[in-house]
Amino acid sequence: MALPRLVLLGKQGAGKGTQAARLGEYYGVLHLSTGEIFRAQAAQGTAFGLEAKRYMDEGELVPDEIVIGVIEEALAPGGPLEDGFVLDGFPRTLHQAQELDRVLDGRQLDLAINLDVPRGIVLDRLAGRRVCENCQRVYHVNMPPEVDWTCDTCGGRVVQRDDDTEEAIDRRLQLYEEQTVPIIDYYREHGMLAQVNGVGEGDDVFKRLVKVVDARRCR
Ligand SMILES: [Zn+2]
Repeated sequence: MALPRLVLLGKQGAGKGTQAARLGEYYGVLHLSTGEIFRAQAAQGTAFGLEAKRYMDEGELVPDEIVIGVIEEALAPGGPLEDGFVLDGFPRTLHQAQELDRVLDGRQLDLAINLDVPRGIVLDRLAGRRVCENCQRVYHVNMPPEVDWTCDTCGGRVVQRDDDTEEAIDRRLQLYEEQTVPIIDYYREHGMLAQVNGVGEGDDVFKRLVKVVDARRCR
């Protein structure tokens, strides 16, 4: 059976990165976030990869046409995503979803999976998040370091990031929903959408994901 081509959609805090990595490992395909694709392509010295890296190094948002260029290079013959992939963090806009179909150039995307977790639940997860200032290790108010908000790994101070306040998170989630509804509609119209309940233990969520992917591949 051909290797799967999957897109994983989901809010920040929905556990998307972890599940995308597990899916990639399970199906033997690369799982890459856009940031990782940019770095990989820059390391290969591709034109768009180097351009994307320049924006990232300056802490700027990578413009749409460069994001799409990098994806196109990575999907091209000989590129790391040629045969199969789990994309995480791309597409982020309807335009990017349409461009992904264009650069796939006849190769079918198997499935776009929306990992669905209600806003209230991710808000709780993210608002309770605490991060080591030094090594960026992530903790949670329900799972703090052993000693007085001092990092177990490096001894750094464990704090709440400025952009992890409830208000800031709520704003990010609202923006995400506004951007994502058109993408979800687009994949639904093209018969490529699966909705998967992302609430519960990681292992249970993973089993639900494999079930929809396998059902799709065994048509
Ligand atoms: Zn640390």
